[in-house]
Amino acid sequence: MNKLERRGKLNNYVCMCTNIKDFTLINQRMSSQVGDLVLRNYAVTIEQNLEKDERIARVGGDNFMILVQKQRIEEFLQFIEKVSVTVEYENVAQILQLESRCGLYAIQEGDSVGVILDAAHLALSQAKHSSAADYIWYETNMLEQAYDRRTLLTEYGNALKQHEFLVCYQPKVNIFTNTLCGCEALVRWQKEDGLVPPFRFIPALEEEGRITELDFYVFEQICKDIRSWLDKGITPVRISSNFSKLHLQNPEFANTILKIVDRYQIESEYLEIELTESSGYEDFKALTDFVRIMNEHEIYVSIDDFGTGYSSLSLLKDLNVDVVKLDKSFIDEIGTGDIMNENLVKNVVHMIKDLNRHVICEGVETSVQADFLRDLDCHMVQGYLYDKPLPHAKFEERLIHPNYEVG
Ligand code: C2E
Ligand code: CA
Ligand code: CA
Repeated sequence: MNKLERRGKLNNYVCMCTNIKDFTLINQRMSSQVGDLVLRNYAVTIEQNLEKDERIARVGGDNFMILVQKQRIEEFLQFIEKVSVTVEYENVAQILQLESRCGLYAIQEGDSVGVILDAAHLALSQAKHSSAADYIWYETNMLEQAYDRRTLLTEYGNALKQHEFLVCYQPKVNIFTNTLCGCEALVRWQKEDGLVPPFRFIPALEEEGRITELDFYVFEQICKDIRSWLDKGITPVRISSNFSKLHLQNPEFANTILKIVDRYQIESEYLEIELTESSGYEDFKALTDFVRIMNEHEIYVSIDDFGTGYSSLSLLKDLNVDVVKLDKSFIDEIGTGDIMNENLVKNVVHMIKDLNRHVICEGVETSVQADFLRDLDCHMVQGYLYDKPLPHAKFEERLIHPNYEVG
């Protein structure tokens, strides 16, 4: 790049930063030796498809930087969509079709190499967040957002110490009796200049590996709240809390939960752990071990956002979870005339019940949706039709008056 820069030719190229999809799976399922071979073969295969002035370099892990001529970038993107590599695994040659995520930056005249690499990296990190697109071109506001992220991370540590994180509780409602039957704890960041919604900080904290501290903080707050309700003579309901899949890499995950439960002397009937559906695929053993320990302690485990991401029916069969939360996107289409979707919801609800799991539908906003779900014999729902996430005091009123008029 330095050479091209000196010749004033760098702006004829696109700099792309790539990352192999599901590479951790290859490492885990086929060993890290096979993983090494995959990396090598991926790079070699790409290199064979480069022109002589183009370059590929490994920048760490499964991330590569590639410099490609602007005039053939479309053709190159088509090629990189699926890169086939052959590796030997258990004495058999296996062909793997590798897909990549790419951050792309069209180099401008006068850009320094540092700026170019940063821009491609940033675009890649956006591609990792986006479920819709695997290729993302750098846009000017990305740099600003990244600075936001740096500020966010410095503020975060202090915010935890200063107790700036609040826990709201969103009721779950039994739609046959129209009564409160549980709730989900959802975190809010109360900053001096206002309330920050989770989507502004949770994905960033997750990406930086910092979310786990917050999850335990929230969980401890829930246990404190349950304890104080019990001490006041108010009967709580089962409260579910969100735990990022990052926890599964921590061998002390289950133990830390149990220690907190023990500290506040909370009965398991008040507790539920929500894990996102994709959790299973990164480390199935850690997931099954975790669920088993929770089962032994009779703490419920639920699969969140079921039906999105890495949908898998075998997950339902192989994992002894107590509750499945059907994602809002399916509920949204109820009553809009989308018969296919309604049939899907109907059959998925029946299947979950047949497998002896509880089912809850998220994001119920209209009585048409509630009626439809009632007809399916689905008891539990959560959504704005009944309540938004409520601050502590409001939720306490709900515990005391658990009946709903609507529905
Ligand atoms: P989620 O776990 O899927 O939580 C449900 C989200 O849907 C909540 O958004 C809730 O307010 C919203 N919602 C519920 N009913 C309705 C409805 O009828 N209509 C609409 N439009 N939305 C509804 P919220 O509170 O903004 O949370 C967003 C996400 O942030 C959560 O999605 C969860 O993934 C994450 N999150 C929140 N708290 C925590 C936490 O303590 N730890 C972790 N790891 N993630 C958290
Ligand atoms: Ca959730
Ligand atoms: Ca959810």
